[in-house]
Amino acid sequence: MTDRVSFELKAVDGRARTGVIRTPRGDIRTPAFMPVGTAATVKAMLPESVRATGADILLGNTYHLMLRPGAERVERLGGLHRFMNWERPILTDSGGFQVMSLAELRKLTEEGVTFRSHVDGSKHFLSPETSMQIQRQLGSDIVMCFDECPALPADEARVAESMRLSMRWAARSREAFGDRPGHALFGIQQGGVTEALRGESAEALKAIGFDGYAIGGLAVGEGQEAMFGVLDYAPGMLPEDRPRYLMGVGKPDDIVGAVKRGVDMMDCVLPSRSGRTGQAWTRRGQVNIKNARHADDPRPLDEDCTCPACSGYSRAYLHHVFRAGEMISGMLLTWHNLHYFQQIMQGMRAAIAAGTFAAWEADFHATRAAGDIEPV
Ligand SMILES: [Zn+2]
Repeated sequence: MTDRVSFELKAVDGRARTGVIRTPRGDIRTPAFMPVGTAATVKAMLPESVRATGADILLGNTYHLMLRPGAERVERLGGLHRFMNWERPILTDSGGFQVMSLAELRKLTEEGVTFRSHVDGSKHFLSPETSMQIQRQLGSDIVMCFDECPALPADEARVAESMRLSMRWAARSREAFGDRPGHALFGIQQGGVTEALRGESAEALKAIGFDGYAIGGLAVGEGQEAMFGVLDYAPGMLPEDRPRYLMGVGKPDDIVGAVKRGVDMMDCVLPSRSGRTGQAWTRRGQVNIKNARHADDPRPLDEDCTCPACSGYSRAYLHHVFRAGEMISGMLLTWHNLHYFQQIMQGMRAAIAAGTFAAWEADFHATRAAGDIEPV
């Protein structure tokens, strides 16, 4: 066990990297996929089940938790780890992104953002200083800088102005975070899809100095091609000896493309959200369990998958419980999806370590392209 957060890069294959982030609450193997525990739960999953899928770390949402149940309450109850019964590492976002996407009546100034809660209309204020305080109250292991991010497409002047505000907020976040051994603070690169702005942002962050660096402002509507375009250069602008985190990504092929371009960490609600709407992600692509073709199919979702949904249940059963609105539907599909996402990460880590990432990637795409098994 360690008393501080550190990052060890173990192998590089092309630009893909594998390593480990060591924290007092346990190691995080990279590339890492972080399931999202928005309201102090990964929906439909017990924490031990999330761990059983292979997750080393969860993401918690500052915006949701500050509004309900409130950061002071979580702190009084022993912090987020104890509150939600997850003792391994937790990364919290800063609240900035969700204030922009969910809150009402926002007012943005140099100081911070005033907004009304989407839950009960109550008035709140988030700034670099209050975001650092809330993330400390939650007990987060990896804390994110408070930033602002415009939805894309946005004109370059607006993106530049927003990025420079975020860099001033990054310096204030660093100052407010202070010296907290055992906890890490990550800076967030902004700059939209403009290479010069991404470079300016990276230089500003490196001058401040962070334990890790996120690539923010992507997966906000720009499309995969534009995102990969940015990832062709953005990770290389960030320090090689620190973890690089791509926020809010993504679909399996987004994740593989990001790792190929040098990203170490990702998070997304997709596997859990899809699991509640009857969508399964498999090696052979997406399966819509609502579809009538599954009603009489005695085969599992994926016969090579070792998750509980695939080892114990047929497509016919999964189809039935979804149609009947049974809770086990979301539980089983979420478990399968999280398991599959972690299998991708495990496969990539092993391939990078072995120097066979290109072959692994070719097989990943070929299996997907073959499509789902033929109907019975
Ligand atoms: Zn499965």
